[in-house]
Order: sequence, then C-alpha cells, then structure tokens
Amino acid sequence: MWSEEMRKRINSLWDMDSYDIYGMSELYGQCTAVECHLHEGLHVWEDHYLIEVVDPKTGEPLEPEEEGVLVVTPLTHDAMPLIRYWTNDITKLLDATSCDCGRTMRRIARIKGRADDMLIINGVNVFPQAIELVVLSQPWASPHYQIVVEREGELDRLYVYVEANRKMDEKEKEHLAEKLKHQLRETIMVTPRVTILDPGQLPRQEGGKAKRVIDKRRI
Ligand SMILES: [Zn+2]
Repeated sequence: MWSEEMRKRINSLWDMDSYDIYGMSELYGQCTAVECHLHEGLHVWEDHYLIEVVDPKTGEPLEPEEEGVLVVTPLTHDAMPLIRYWTNDITKLLDATSCDCGRTMRRIARIKGRADDMLIINGVNVFPQAIELVVLSQPWASPHYQIVVEREGELDRLYVYVEANRKMDEKEKEHLAEKLKHQLRETIMVTPRVTILDPGQLPRQEGGKAKRVIDKRRI
C-alpha cells in the first residue's frame, strides 16, 4: 500500500505514470479494482464483484463518501464462494457513478489503511497512512520515517521521526520540525512531537526499510 506522495516520488524518479490496483488472494488475485488514467479512484470490476462499504462496528452498509470497511462478494467464483468477505481495508465508495474516462463501473477511493492498523491516540483515530502523506510531502524528507506511540501517565504521546534527505544544522531541523508538527496536527487532529534525523539514522530492518509504526502501549 502506498500514499499519493509515495506515488508522486516513484513517478518522478522513474519518469513514468503508475496505477493503483486493489486485490487479494482470497478474491483470486491482483485485480478487484484498478485506476483508469484519470487516477480519481479505482474502478471496481462490478461484473465479478459486489462491493459494499460498511460501518466497522455495526456491519451496516454506508452511504457513498462515508468511510468504512470494504466488504466484497465475488459473483463468479466457483470453488471458493465467499459472501460479504470482510477485507478489513478502509475506503469509501465515490459518489459519482460514472467517470470522465467513460467507464460506468463504480469507484472506490484509494485504500486509506487497514482497520487494524488504525491507532487510537487519546481517543482520536489516526491512520499511519495519513501521517505518511504529510511527511512525504515535505521536500526535505526522505522516505524513511518512524511513528512511535507511548503512554505517559494517562496520556498517549505520538512521536514522529523523519530522516532528512540531506545534512542540516540543528536550527534548520528545529524550524522544519515545528512546521511539520503544525501540518500534522491540522491533518490528524493530534499534536505529535517531531524529530528530524540525519540521513541513515533510523535503524533499518531486513530489506532496508525502517520499521514504520511502533506502538509501545502494546508491548
Ligand atoms: Zn475512469
């Protein structure tokens, strides 16, 4: 799963256009929904899949533009029929029933996150993807960042560590961290503590990536 900012970076690095697709092995493969060239949501192959977006608590179907869990019923599977398969992926049905590309199949929004990835920080629902979106929109930020949640007394505390893509002095780091903190607060409604690190400072896991989310409240 990638954010829009990650896509922009891939497109510019490789000088190409990239398409978001949605699928899973339980639904027989890679493509339950795919973007058209307009990149305004993913068209669902409705001749093969009946999709609903439901309230994660009640399971009741939601209206278009309301976010919930995607539930899929494949219509043409023989060997492994599934009815209202709970994907745990958070998205919404787009309101418009047609697209400027001419296709009439319904569209879902890009997957916002997994229902079980959602962090509840002092009662506010926060998706790590939403943080990534803001972090990667910073021109100085590398793709390596880490989100840490801890409990201090009665309160949850959110820390965001971001590696810069170049060396900076402490003054510049503090200034940019403060700016990012405000932008994050506006987006996720939680005020994080932001630290900017030098390139390569975050510990890497196998595969060269930094672990993205550490919830110390669960350890
Ligand atoms: Zn389209």
